[in-house]
Amino acid sequence: MLSIIVPCYNEEATVALYYEELKKYLPELGEYELLFVNDGSKDETLKKCLEIKAQDSNCRIIDFSRNFGKEAAMLAGMSVAKGDYVVITDADLQDPPKLLPEMLKILKADEHLDSVATYRVNRKGEPVIRSFFARCFYKLINKMIDINIVDGARDYRMMTSRMVKAVLSLSEVNRFSKGIFAWVGFETKYLEYENVERAAGETKWSFWKLFRYALDGIVGFTTIPLRLATIAGLLVSAFGFIYMIYIVIKALAFGDPVAGFPSLIVIITLLGGIQLIVLGILGEYLAKTYMETKRRPVYIIRDIL
Ligand code: UDP
Ligand code: MG
Repeated sequence: MLSIIVPCYNEEATVALYYEELKKYLPELGEYELLFVNDGSKDETLKKCLEIKAQDSNCRIIDFSRNFGKEAAMLAGMSVAKGDYVVITDADLQDPPKLLPEMLKILKADEHLDSVATYRVNRKGEPVIRSFFARCFYKLINKMIDINIVDGARDYRMMTSRMVKAVLSLSEVNRFSKGIFAWVGFETKYLEYENVERAAGETKWSFWKLFRYALDGIVGFTTIPLRLATIAGLLVSAFGFIYMIYIVIKALAFGDPVAGFPSLIVIITLLGGIQLIVLGILGEYLAKTYMETKRRPVYIIRDIL
């Protein structure tokens, strides 16, 4: 059986469109279950999902008590899914259902393969600045961590139940799935496709939300920024030490009385800046540790329909 997980947040305009498109490929997928995760939508998403459920007995709806974010929705879907194969897909048709039969076929054909993932070959239709920062992010994070996160990789991926089990065994509360999928390992095949623009409605990601997401990804997967902070501290101290020797020698040799005021200001602001950055980095990790120690559930299910 194949479990199709569809996280939905304010997707009243797209769920029906998604189902219409999906329906074309369902006969090729064999036994399936369709799991909508209603992530605390404030619009009519739940009603639209219920309408689909009325026509399709293989459809279930996980209804959250409020909006917990897509990471939580994916996690809930995976915990509830019963399929031997599990696929996560957006409701806005940016993850074309057309690929599903192919993904399933590839996965079934190869014993050693546990996941078929997708990535976009281009970012057509996306703001240029966003694409630029996204590229930088992938370069940066891949330099810092041992595992490889593919640039442009989507969350659209089909996995075997054993890989899902591995993903679920990671109990962290701050979840960065792109990293987790790579971290658990398993043989993954990547399919590429052209970027598709959202069918209707609008994206839930503002620039700052994406920025936070990127930071969460880095903090969640590597402690290298902490080490960089130490190194920056060492470099600055070394510089200060050398400068001190220079001043002492200069004073002894030339009897230079008062060093310049501007240089003092420069050094004070530079040091102040570096200290604050280092504190900020520490704070990021401390905050994450704090949230993790609370062991709060990642999501709360109001009802499963
Ligand atoms: N989504 C969600 N919870 C959220 C935000 C988004 O379940 O808090 C879902 C959304 O309904 C969609 C998918 O995650 O099915 C991807 O969201 P979106 O299309 O806004 O992201 P983008 O494709 O622009 O990266
Ligand atoms: Mg989208």
